[in-house]
Amino acid sequence: MAKARIGLYEVKGDTLTRTHRSCPKCGPGTFLAEHKNRRSCGRCGYAESRAPPPPKGKSPKSGG
Ligand SMILES: [Zn+2]
Repeated sequence: MAKARIGLYEVKGDTLTRTHRSCPKCGPGTFLAEHKNRRSCGRCGYAESRAPPPPKGKSPKSGG
């Protein structure tokens, strides 16, 4: 009996959301490892850079 992997999917209401991106080379069955600033596939070695986090704190508005 195989136990389903927990944590790769997130169910919100009636929508199933993938929390992990799948590898474009290996297919939807292989998920990329989440790193701080990139994702990598432990199977084929594929890696992609993640988008930088949005700036927070200072706002360009109301300068002075
Ligand atoms: Zn891969």
